[in-house]
Parts: sequence; structure tokens; C-alpha cells
Amino acid sequence: MERIYFDHAATTPVSAEVLEKMMPYFSENFGNAHSQHNFGRNAIKGVDDARSQVAAAIGCRPNEVYFTGSGTEANNWAVKGTAWARESKGRHIITSKIEHPSVLNSCKWLEKHGFEVSYISVDKDGTVSLDELEKAVRPDTILISVMMANNEVGTIQPYKEIAAIAKKHGVLYHVDAVQAVGAIKVDVNDIGCDMLTLSAHKFYGPKGVGALYIRNGLKIEKLIVGGGQERAMRGGTTNTPAVVGLGQAIENAVKNLGSYAEHCRNLRDRFIGRVEKEIPYVKLNGSRTNRLPNNANFSFEYIEGESILYRLDLAGIAVSSGSACSSGSLEPSHVLLAMGVDIVLGHGSIRFSFGKDNTVEQIDYAVDKLKEIVKTLREMSPLFNWKDGEKENI
Ligand SMILES: *Cc1c(COP(=O)(O)O)cnc(C)c1O
Repeated sequence: MERIYFDHAATTPVSAEVLEKMMPYFSENFGNAHSQHNFGRNAIKGVDDARSQVAAAIGCRPNEVYFTGSGTEANNWAVKGTAWARESKGRHIITSKIEHPSVLNSCKWLEKHGFEVSYISVDKDGTVSLDELEKAVRPDTILISVMMANNEVGTIQPYKEIAAIAKKHGVLYHVDAVQAVGAIKVDVNDIGCDMLTLSAHKFYGPKGVGALYIRNGLKIEKLIVGGGQERAMRGGTTNTPAVVGLGQAIENAVKNLGSYAEHCRNLRDRFIGRVEKEIPYVKLNGSRTNRLPNNANFSFEYIEGESILYRLDLAGIAVSSGSACSSGSLEPSHVLLAMGVDIVLGHGSIRFSFGKDNTVEQIDYAVDKLKEIVKTLREMSPLFNWKDGEKENI
């Protein structure tokens, strides 16, 4: 059976070119990037090159790039590090209700330690309310953290407008761009952000490595203290192979951005078009127009997302229900709830996220399977009440 992977928002495979670039750093170039001998210098060279590759990709200077152990760490660092550095100025932070758990839980943690957080609402498409956001700004607001694009429903946020609001009020703006890199243009000056998070495994790089862009001149507290690594801003021996992989992956992602986005958009639009035409009682979650090129998220009325996921998996098709981080629990997604999606509908939601190796044939096969699965599950569903005598037509 062919295995079909439609879960690129959860993670992507390491591309062959990236893997090849990484390999020598496990063997002959194994040195500690902090050592002052030839072995160390070889490792440093790999790390320096990667830093330049990241800088070129997001339009900043190499000394504004700090490598971390994940996107999660970079988000924790941006939020907590800003809070700790600016608490004498104020203890209020603004974020949105649909952030990744690494931002939301950093904010929740800070709330336990005397900070106040405003969680801004989103509309039914999952777009953050600019009006509410601006009204939430107070004299003691020190940080706005709102993502560039949502990982569950793919909605792209009005990041430039958010940056403008932050700037107008003298507040720092951190953007979680983990889902955006490789899918849409990510340029720190175009965005107007002070900090930006990215993670290699979302764009065909290795897992367990990310980066935080921190604008020159901006001082935030350290999250991980130790030796003097990352210009004394992040302790821990540099994961050289992973960092080298991140550098190559982001260079490739930016080089291929146009064709990659177009490839994914074609697949996504074919998928959305067929599902909406051929499967009744479905709802596309997220913005129809302002969404990541590789994301489709559907609610299927009257049935459980988990049951669809399980049957698609049996058919060799890998998708995600809710978000990968929270699946396994039967809690409805915080993103769908914030968008006002009915709880029952939320339970029947599935994220399909496409990537470079997916094909039109896979899309067609998946839609055919999905049709069968949805029909079978609805026939079994106590929720489906055969309305309008449409039994033939589910
Ligand atoms: C995956 C993801 C993260 C976390 O990155 P990790 O490297 O997996 O820790 C953060 N934010 C968003 C939007 C993500 O999709």
C-alpha cells in the first residue's frame, strides 16, 4: 500500500540535500564549535555559514540570529526573556487566543508569576481582531506576540498591521513564523517585528533545532544559562549537525518558495474543490483566501475527527485531527473554539497539510477514500438524523 503523508504542518522529512550537508558534522567535523583548535574551527565554520544562511533567508544580519533547540524554546525565550528584561517598565503582555501552546503556556506561566496577559479574540476565519488588539495596549504593555500564520487552520495574520500598532505604542513585537517559513515570504523588515521564531523541521530540516531572531540593540534575558555559546545568550554545546541542516534547509526553502507554494496551492485547491463538491455537510475552517498554500482544514458534520483519522490511517493516509500536540486528548482545539466553531463540529475536524512530494493522484485517491469513510461513519452515526431523507446523499 502506498503511504500518503498529508501532515506537513506537524513535521516534514529531512531533504536529501540537507541530510548530506549534515552528515560530515556527525563524523569528521565532530568538533565542539567552541573549541579553539582545528576540529573546533571546522564546526564553527558550519555554524557561521548556517547563521549567514538564516540571515539571508529572513533579511537580517547574522549576529541577529540565535540558534535554539526548537521553535518551542525560541517562543519560550522571546516571551519570558522579554518579560524578565522589561518588568520594571511593565508587566502586561498581549497575545492571541490561537497561538501555539509554546506561546500560550509561556504566557500562562508568566501569569502565575505576576504578569498580566490579554488574549485577543479572532473572527470566524481565525484572524486576530486588530481593533481589540489596539484597545488592549496599556502604558505597562511590554510585548505583543502574535503568530504569522496559524498551524491548525492556516490563516495568515495581519502581521504588518500588528507591527504598526506595536511600533506606534512603543511595544515589542514577537512573531512565531514557524508555519510561515518556506510557505510564504518571511522578511523581518517587511514584517516589522523585533523578534521572530522559526523551526527547521517544518521546512525539510531536522527536528530539535530552531532559531530566534532578535533585532540588534534589543536586550532580552537569557532562558538557558550555561557556557558562553550563542554569544553568551544561550548556553549548551551547539548541535552543529542540526544547525548546519537548518541553514541548508532555510536556504532551499527560500530558493524554492515560489514553485513550492504553487505546487502546494494547486494540490490544496484541488482538494478543497473536490471535498466541497463531493462530500455534503462539510465546512472549511480558516480563511478561504488568506491562508497558507499547503493547509486545508475541514469539519465533517455528524462524525468524529478521530474516527476519520483512524480510517484514513488504515487506508495509508496520514492526517491530523486538531493539532498534533493536543491530539490524543479529546479536548476540542483551542483554535477552533476561539473561531466560534461549534464544539460538535470542532470534534469532526481534520487538518490536511501538503508538501513537496505530494501529487495530484494522491489528492484524488485521498478524496475518494475520504468520501467512502465519511459516508460509512455517517451511516453509523447516531448524530446523523437522515435529514431531508438524504440517506442516499451523505
Ligand atoms: C511546530 C510549531 C512550533 C513548535 O516548534 P518545535 O520546533 O516543534 O518546537 C511553534 N509554533 C508553531 C506555529 C508551530 O507550528
